[in-house]
Amino acid sequence: MQQELTNKLQQLYEDALSTCQQGSPADYIPALAKANAQLFAVSIASQQLTTQLGDSTERFTLQSIVKVISFMVATEARGVEEVMHYVDLEPTGDAFNSMIRLESSKPGKPFNPMINAGAITIASLLHGTTPNEKVDTVLDFLEQLLHKRPSINGEVFLSEFDTAHRNRAIAYHLKANGFIVGDVETALKAYLLLCSIEVTTQDLAKMGLFLATDGEGAPFISPHILKITKALMMTCGMYNASGKVAAFIGIPAKSGVSGGVLACLKDATIEGHHGAIGIGLFSPAIDDVGNSVASMHMLKQLADHYHLSYF
Ligand code: GLU
Repeated sequence: MQQELTNKLQQLYEDALSTCQQGSPADYIPALAKANAQLFAVSIASQQLTTQLGDSTERFTLQSIVKVISFMVATEARGVEEVMHYVDLEPTGDAFNSMIRLESSKPGKPFNPMINAGAITIASLLHGTTPNEKVDTVLDFLEQLLHKRPSINGEVFLSEFDTAHRNRAIAYHLKANGFIVGDVETALKAYLLLCSIEVTTQDLAKMGLFLATDGEGAPFISPHILKITKALMMTCGMYNASGKVAAFIGIPAKSGVSGGVLACLKDATIEGHHGAIGIGLFSPAIDDVGNSVASMHMLKQLADHYHLSYF
């Protein structure tokens, strides 16, 4: 059974690998531009088995994928009502780093936690007064989940911190509008440190399995918060392709500009195995909206071949 599964996956993997050239690594964060565009890794975790394909031990930074985790941690700590006072749960159709609605919509509340504005606000809501204390709450969560404490990539952090003009503008807009709790530079730095947490696709698959099983095992996240998190992934997780990913793939997922994708599905049947699955994908070459080209190709093929749609 395991062999059959791996053979089919290997074939899908080879197909997806050939699409890497259609994108290129993000270059607005200088350290990310250096990534090897040919890397491609896929990990699938179920409660029975895990499958690894390609460069599954390669480490990369979470970038926007951390927004899923920091939302859960902040919301578990503060409660849904308090968090929703500061961040809405609505898709935008704007770029992830857009500022337009902070000015054009009153009262300038960030539309959702999966865009930069929402995620910087969420960083301000994490417990702790210093950036490191806030980041530690997320690292504590990940340590319980992954049974190891992830590291922070200092080079990526510094590279982004030095060039974070747009995120800094977003953060100060939010502060002016009353949607940052505490010090604005603390929230910004915490957000950028969170984006620089390093993982592998194996780690992403474990995170996906945690979400897919509604939080089975440690650490504890309330079921209603897990439900909201997956709804956010489905509606806002894949940049301006979120609607199309929901329509044509139908799997709750979140991607980051480093080329990682976290996906989860509660009811999947793959080669006779039925149950929850977490999927981690990584390939640094991204498309115009920010999604990893090979990873999206793989996810679509998996969804088509194994009829994985949530719908
Ligand atoms: N650190 C990145 C930024 O704020 C994350 C963007 C992303 O992955 O979507 O620009």
